[in-house]
Amino acid sequence: MSDSPIRYRRSRPDPGHRTEPQLRQEVVQVCHLMWQRGYVAATDGNVSVRMDRDRFLCTPSGFSKGLLQESQLLVVDWEARPLGPTWGESRELLPSSEMLTHLEVYRRRPHVRAVVHAHPPTAVALSIAGIGLARCLLPEVVLAFGTIPTAEYATPSSLEGAAVIRDLISRYDALVLRRHGSLTVGPTAMDAYLKLEKLEATAVITKTLTELGAASPLPPEEVQKLLHWREEQGLARPGQAEDLCAECGLCAQPRETRQ
Ligand SMILES: [Zn+2]
Repeated sequence: MSDSPIRYRRSRPDPGHRTEPQLRQEVVQVCHLMWQRGYVAATDGNVSVRMDRDRFLCTPSGFSKGLLQESQLLVVDWEARPLGPTWGESRELLPSSEMLTHLEVYRRRPHVRAVVHAHPPTAVALSIAGIGLARCLLPEVVLAFGTIPTAEYATPSSLEGAAVIRDLISRYDALVLRRHGSLTVGPTAMDAYLKLEKLEATAVITKTLTELGAASPLPPEEVQKLLHWREEQGLARPGQAEDLCAECGLCAQPRETRQ
């Protein structure tokens, strides 16, 4: 039993095996939430879940996530080749063009069961302005993610897109994709979606603080406390604490000059 004074609930553990209809229902629920919250416009975004060792359920290319139905999801293999169904609405559809990036996540993170990609507007705008989310501003972000790094720009839907996330997604559950969007992962599609909500909320707060000129960081000793909790919970991956200080750069500055 931990003696940590922090009473923060970590995200729900893996719910265990779920049937294909249950997975389809959850993916569609997540798609509708993304659209309702304005995290995707037009046909943006994609969601996938790992069904078993070699099969993935994913959203089709070119569909509004606000209108998507369970019967329109596709089953694909490790090369993003459609495996079916060969009947019904999905038989004429193609898998999401960004499925190659999702498959890269599943290769790097064998325990991840779901990937959510969206275009959350504030996070994207900040990434173009060169303002990252990897700053020690919000305690719950440090607790939940360690940090939220930004991956370098890559042409969307390209093999390059899979390459630029390879290293970061091995260590983090939430990334900003520069000039493009977000990538969040988890044990379920809903868990990965909730990480997206947190990422965009962090972006909105960071934007507000930037406008106010008052992005005052957590004191380094408080950040250490939070990182210690992550370690106790088995959530920390090697190098995260160092990454946080290097990316944020605020801990190293004298307190009066921190922004
Ligand atoms: Zn995209």
